[in-house]
Amino acid sequence: MHEMSLAIGVVEVIESEARKQGFARVERIVLEVGALACVDASALEFGFEAAGKGTKAEGAVLEILTPPGAAYCFACQKSVPISRKGDPCPDCGGYQLVVTGGEELKIKSLEVC
Ligand SMILES: [Zn+2]
Repeated sequence: MHEMSLAIGVVEVIESEARKQGFARVERIVLEVGALACVDASALEFGFEAAGKGTKAEGAVLEILTPPGAAYCFACQKSVPISRKGDPCPDCGGYQLVVTGGEELKIKSLEVC
């Protein structure tokens, strides 16, 4: 399960940051998960809760931001919104697109105490 391994990865980052920075607990963690990253937010939340048990991440509030999918269309020479990878340009129907947004998968901020 993709989301589970992702959640474990996030908890591992928290644990190693806790060792480095010496904080006791994470209050809030904000993740950026792009609309094109193929991640189910509720599965990720569930995985984070399960993976965080007994770690510094336990009890942390998980917030997931979802930047929308965006691509640059060479035919239209502009940025267009897309809802999934491989979609055609919504304006011209062409496939000369380069994804420019929505593939983010990162920890945006970590509030500790
Ligand atoms: Zn286009």
